[in-house]
Amino acid sequence: MSSSLTKKFFLLEGKTKKIFSTENPNKIILHYKDELSALNGLKKEFLQKKGILNNEISSFLFKKMNYYGINTHFIRKINNREQLCHKVNMIPLEFVIRNIITGSMSKRLGIKKGTIPSNTIFEIFYKNDALMDPFINIHHAVFICDVSYEELNIIHQITLNINNFLKKLFLDKNIILVDFKIEFGKNKKNKILLSDEISPDTCRLWDKKTNKKLDKDVFRNNSHKNILDIYMEVLKRLNVPNNN
Ligand code: UDP
Repeated sequence: MSSSLTKKFFLLEGKTKKIFSTENPNKIILHYKDELSALNGLKKEFLQKKGILNNEISSFLFKKMNYYGINTHFIRKINNREQLCHKVNMIPLEFVIRNIITGSMSKRLGIKKGTIPSNTIFEIFYKNDALMDPFINIHHAVFICDVSYEELNIIHQITLNINNFLKKLFLDKNIILVDFKIEFGKNKKNKILLSDEISPDTCRLWDKKTNKKLDKDVFRNNSHKNILDIYMEVLKRLNVPNNN
């Protein structure tokens, strides 16, 4: 019974989360830490309660996506810092979807920040700290990772679906989903599940009226002083009924 599962052994620690095994070999517990990291871990800060906010926000979004029919690793939120999730083998790739051009794509291709592309941009990065998460293509991905062309095609379709769902969800809260990063894993039946988290750490969110940044860019660009207030504002907007 998933309701009685508890943390058994510490398995892994990333920049912002820890993973624990449970009594069930197919389920894990994700623990959200209070760390904020940017620029491939070069900039780090401890921010009390940040983990609680991201757990709240990501749990909210994953629950909605499960309900909508997107296959995710998320089972349920256990407490203010922890989620029960299906165990997956993570594919070491980051998939970025862009509705408005900014960040690394703007720099790499010399495109003016704020440009709206006619198509939805889909990018792949190889998760490798030593190499600073390089930008790669599908052929590199198939060569480097345990993923096929067919699976990458499925992931592309799922990401478009997620983008359409999240764009609308945020727009209903007067927030523009500029871009975001997602990760996938495979369960023991080799089914592809959306994994990791979706939060203001992993998305660019702009206020619809003022273009005010409501995400980690505030930390990347200058200070962390009001970052908790900003994350709290995202959570509050998500938790209220639609503004329309
Ligand atoms: N992103 C992320 N983790 C990373 C790199 C990027 O969550 O390690 C997110 C980032 O918050 C943004 C999107 O992916 O929403 C695109 O980021 P970009 O490639 O522009 O990278 P940046 O130059 O901002 O690191």
